[in-house]
Formats: sequence, C-alpha cells, structure tokens
Amino acid sequence: MRRYFPAGRSALFAFVLLIVTAGSVGAWFYPEWKSGIEWPEPVVVNPGDASTAPSDAVVLFDGTNLDAFNGGEKWTIEDGVAIDGGNITSKEKFGDCQLHLEFATPAEVKGSGQGRGNSGVYLMGRYELQILDSYENETYFDGQCGSIYKQHPPLVNASRGPGEWQSYDIIFTAPKFNEDGTVASPAYVTALHNGVLIQNHFELLGQTAWDSPPEYKPHADREAFSIQFHGNPVRFRNIWVRDLMPQE
Ligand code: MG
Repeated sequence: MRRYFPAGRSALFAFVLLIVTAGSVGAWFYPEWKSGIEWPEPVVVNPGDASTAPSDAVVLFDGTNLDAFNGGEKWTIEDGVAIDGGNITSKEKFGDCQLHLEFATPAEVKGSGQGRGNSGVYLMGRYELQILDSYENETYFDGQCGSIYKQHPPLVNASRGPGEWQSYDIIFTAPKFNEDGTVASPAYVTALHNGVLIQNHFELLGQTAWDSPPEYKPHADREAFSIQFHGNPVRFRNIWVRDLMPQE
C-alpha cells in the first residue's frame, strides 16, 4: 500500500494547484469593483464606555454642575445626579446632532397619565421627545414616553420602572428653511430608548405643542435644546451631544 502514497500526494498537490490557478483566473476575468471615490479617512473617536462620553462629544453634564445650561441653578445636584427643578436650556446651540442622556422618573409614584414623571427633551427648543413614567401608566399613545409629542407614538414601549435609570440616544436632523420661510427639508428624529429603537427616521410635522397642531415656523440652523420641567422631580445624568453639523 505504501507505494501508492507518493501518487496520492501528487494528486493532492495537483488539486491544490488547480484551485489556486482557478482562483487567479477567476480574479482575471472577474476583477474587483471599486467605487473610485477618494474617501477621507474617518476620524478616530474613542467611544468611551457605558458611563463616559465619546471623545468627540460636547459633555453638558458629567455629574458636577449644570453650567452648560441656562436655568441650571434651579436644579439640585446630588451624588452626581441632576434633579429637574425648572426648564433648562443649553448655552451651546446645535443643528444636526446625536444627543445622549440618562433619566429616571421618581421612584415614588405620584399622579397618573401625563402627571407622572413628565419631562421632555425639546430639540432645538421646540420639538419634544417626551419623557414620562410610562411603566404601567396609561395615557394617550402619542404622549407616552418616547413619543414625538402629539405627532407619533414610540414604536414600542421600552420603559423601565419608576426610579430606574433609562437612556435616550437621539439622532436628530435639523429642518432647513427657504428664504421665504417655507420648509426646504423637514426635521427627522431617530431615537433609542434603553437601546431599543422607538423612532425610526420620523419626519417631524412641525413644532410640538399641547394646545395647537404641529406647524413649522422658520428658525436658525442651530438652536439651543431644552429639558422640560413639568412639576415632577425627574433625575438626569450623563448628558452629551455629538455635533454632526460642520462648523462654518
Ligand atoms: Mg413632557
């Protein structure tokens, strides 16, 4: 039997050679497609971890103070956590951006519906992504936690219970206006609540309001965002923004 072994090895060698040759010939007849676009190299960003911001983020609250906001003096800061005591507005203005924040509605449940753990992120000061205690708390669907207030309910209810820390990761595209004030392109919101997609590139219909239908009113390319005070001591931590709009 041993005398057949060399022949077997030759056959194996021939087989490997055939595969390699076929591959080369294939590459010759079917060359790789390339777009030809000369992309700039993506900037290196340290992503941080669950409790720190990415290296290119503007950190607005890291547990020390609310100096980055107008109105921050009305809030209480305890153990690195900010407790809602009045509307606050960012001093820095943003257009297209990625916004991260963490919140916890009061552990002691008081009130119901819109009166329970209500706050909100007002993108550009006028487009509200609702914050509410929506854990086993009935209200109108386009007003529950994660809704674009009175425009669109969240895709799912990903709420944690009262007092538990929750996160919002918001990707916002600012609207653009023509010189005559008409909308050139609307605003869009994508949002994750506790890592779960709740708004998927939703096209905003205009500003959000309790007492009037949505309507666009022209404003600047960059505007401050605010956090609502609705009478409930909602807690916040880790607020940061990544500016997605090139500075002029
Ligand atoms: Mg609200």
